[in-house]
Parts: sequence; structure tokens; C-alpha cells
Amino acid sequence: MAEAEFTMELNDEQKEVRDWIHGFAAEVIRPAAAEWDEREETPWPVIQEAAKVGIYSLDFYAQQYFDPTGLGIPMAMEELFWGDAGIALSIVGTGLAAVGVLANGTEEQIGTWIPQMYGDANDVKVAAFCSSEPDAGSDVASMRTRAVYDEAKDEWVLNGTKTWATNGGIANVHVVVAVVDAELGSKGHASFIVPPGTEGLAQGQKFKKHGIRASHTAEVILDNVRVPGSCLLGGKEKLDERLARAREKARQGGERVKNAAMATFEASRPAVGAMAVGTARAAYEVALDYARTREQFGRPIIDNQGVAFQLADMRTSIDAARLLVWRASWMAVNGKPFTAAEGSMSKLFASETAKKVTAQAIQILGGNGYTREYPVERMHRDAAIYTIFEGTSEIQRLVIARTLAGVPIR
Ligand SMILES: Cc1cc2nc3c(=O)[nH]c(=O)nc-3n(C[C@H](O)[C@H](O)[C@H](O)COP(=O)(O)OP(=O)(O)OC[C@H]3O[C@@H](n4cnc5c(N)ncnc54)[C@H](O)[C@@H]3O)c2cc1C
Repeated sequence: MAEAEFTMELNDEQKEVRDWIHGFAAEVIRPAAAEWDEREETPWPVIQEAAKVGIYSLDFYAQQYFDPTGLGIPMAMEELFWGDAGIALSIVGTGLAAVGVLANGTEEQIGTWIPQMYGDANDVKVAAFCSSEPDAGSDVASMRTRAVYDEAKDEWVLNGTKTWATNGGIANVHVVVAVVDAELGSKGHASFIVPPGTEGLAQGQKFKKHGIRASHTAEVILDNVRVPGSCLLGGKEKLDERLARAREKARQGGERVKNAAMATFEASRPAVGAMAVGTARAAYEVALDYARTREQFGRPIIDNQGVAFQLADMRTSIDAARLLVWRASWMAVNGKPFTAAEGSMSKLFASETAKKVTAQAIQILGGNGYTREYPVERMHRDAAIYTIFEGTSEIQRLVIARTLAGVPIR
């Protein structure tokens, strides 16, 4: 019989990387978590530490991304977010903007802008990806920020208000999605680099949040921001071709212009699922430890089925979530079609699991769980983000349902 190719075990190299990231999360991130949550500020010294050891760099993500099993990114995310969600988002937030450039940029744009997004260990920088707007959250197609081409100067002029941007206003490089042809819905959008120090870009309000408070989230105001033609990701020729194709399709009527971003989302959503698994696992471990050592009525509370069964359910859901995340990540790397929106499934299940498991952890810790003396209170606040960003749970269900029904997703 041929040797089975399928394995559920990480290989030695993956285990080594996982243990290395876990070490950083345990020794550097977790001990700093409570402080930066209270300060509600970007943890620059921790990002710098991550840069020093090589965890805050494009190379690190590229290496994980090109792991042919697809498990490199989810493994890294789970460990970092196990450490602390707010700090981990400050470390990986730049990656969201970098992926925007990698996905749509030319070789030259990738080479020019990505290094400026990260800076170096002596002078770390961050980047921001700005898509959401006050009136365009789930409904991305209703975006209003406009980009108008000034042919005489070969410049694009950006005007609008972005919101909820992770690292918005403090980023060295901003990637901004804007409308170039309003008739075409999301097909008429394009992405632009706003280089460091560009006039007209300003931070609006910085949000005071429920959780992930170490991660900076703010509005970004674009007031007649002029960027060179070379800042249009992918270049003008490619954009013109893409717009011409979309106009032709729209003219032919019939099929509603499909959202090309959908496939990208299916591939990126498992990474958010993995973050949620990390937070859920962290809370579960604290609860398990507490249940074994806390005694009431003369025995550890875990000896009560009411507590032990909760832990059994928590662990089962976490493992199930991880398997869904791994499956979708494997599919993405191996170019498998997401015929049942498996990426969205993994994000939906993992994020709902994180919310539930962190609440159960508070319950198991009783009064202590409700205080900031123990980390599960913070983990529960942090977990609430996973069902909101990168598409809410309702939007994941909508995507899954429409995919199953064979209805176009707009
Ligand atoms: C901390 C944080 C960081 C973020 N970082 C970034 C970032 O870096 N860059 C960026 O561009 N964006 C970012 N976002 C924005 C995020 O992606 C949006 O908040 C999210 O897409 C939801 O949009 P909204 O907040 O406008 O909610 P809305 O779209 O207004 O939704 C409100 C409610 O209505 C529900 N709903 C909406 N439409 C439907 C429907 N058709 N069917 C059923 N229910 C529906 C939603 O599920 C939700 O429960 C961030 C958000 C937060 C909170």
C-alpha cells in the first residue's frame, strides 16, 4: 500500500517555529499585556523587541505564508494572540497593509513600500490599511472616498474619510482604498499608497475601545491628498484594463459585477480565525488551571461536573475551530476552490468560539474572573472584536449561505 500523504501532525520545522513564537509570546507579550491594555497606547517597545528577534518583518510573514501546508500563518497567529490580542494586533496590523501591496502592487511598489512599512529594529514603523468608512462598513461597495486622476501632473487626488483604521494616522505608510468609477460598485475601487509625510492626510478621532486596547484604531481624513501616479497599486494601465472589462460586463447587463475581493477574503479570513483560537486557548488554559487548584466544599472545583463539562466543551470547540482554520488555510495555499466558503466558516466558528469560551472562563474563575487581577476579563473584552472585523459574523453567514445557494455575493 502506498504511504499515506495525509497527516495531522506538524513537522519538526513547524514545531520549532511554533515553540519559538510561543516563547516570545510567553516571555515578552503576555507579561506586558495588562500594562498596555490600561495605557491604551501602541506598545512600541514590544514591537521593537519583535523586530529584533525577527518576528516583526516581512520576511517572517513571507516564510510562514509560503509554508506549503498552509499552517505557517495560522500557527504564528494563534501563538502571538495567545500572548495578548491587543499587542499581537499591533505586531501583525502592518501585515494587513503589506498584503494589500503584495496582492495588487508591482514588483517595484513592493520593493519600495513594504520596507518603509516595517522600518527596522532601531526605528520601527507601522502601516495602515484604510478601507472602512463611516457609511461603508459591511457594505464596502457604498464607499465614498474618491480618487481623481490629474493627468497634467500625473497625480491622484484623494478626498474622503476613512474610519476604524488599525494604525491609522500613526502609520508611516497608509494604503487607501478609493472609488475611481462610482458606476461599477466595488469593481470601481482601487488602492493607493499614501507615502510618509504626505500633506492632507490627518488622523481624526482615536477610538477608546472595549478590547484590544493596545492596538491603535482611528479615523483617517483625506483632504486633497495628492500622490504621484506611481502610488496607484498595480499601475494605471492595469487599472484601465480592469475598468474597461468591468464596464463591458456591466453593459452586457445580466450578471451583476462579482466582487473579486471575495476569493481574497476567503484566503485571509482563516488568519483571523487563528487569532480567535489563540485568545480562546489562552482563556481556556487559565480556567483549567484555576479549576484544578481552586477548592470549594473541600475539593477542587473541577471535581464538579458542572465545571468539568464546561471545560470539556471549551476544549472541544477550540480544537474544532482550529481544524476549520487549518483546513481553510491549507485550501488557500493549495489553490482549492472555496465551494462552501470554508474560509468564512472558519472565521465564523472560531470567533464565536472565542467569545463564548472567554465568557465561560470568567464564570469558572468566579469573582476573580470579573477583575483585572486575572487575564480572562481582558481576554473576553478582546474576543469581542473577532466577530466584528474582517466581516461580522452575520456577513460570514451571509457569504456561506449565498455560496451554498449559488447566489452571487455582492
Ligand atoms: C478594532 C477595529 C479595527 C478595525 N480595523 C480595520 C482596518 O484596519 N481597516 C479597515 O478598513 N477596517 C477596519 N475595521 C472595520 C471593520 O472591518 C468594520 O467595523 C466591519 O466591517 C463592520 O462594519 P461596521 O462597523 O460599519 O458595521 P455595520 O456594517 O454597520 O454593521 C452593523 C451590524 O449590522 C449587521 N449587518 C450589516 N449588514 C448586514 C446584512 N446584510 N445582513 C445581516 N446583518 C447585517 C452587522 O453584522 C452588524 O451586526 C476595524 C474595526 C474595528 C472595530
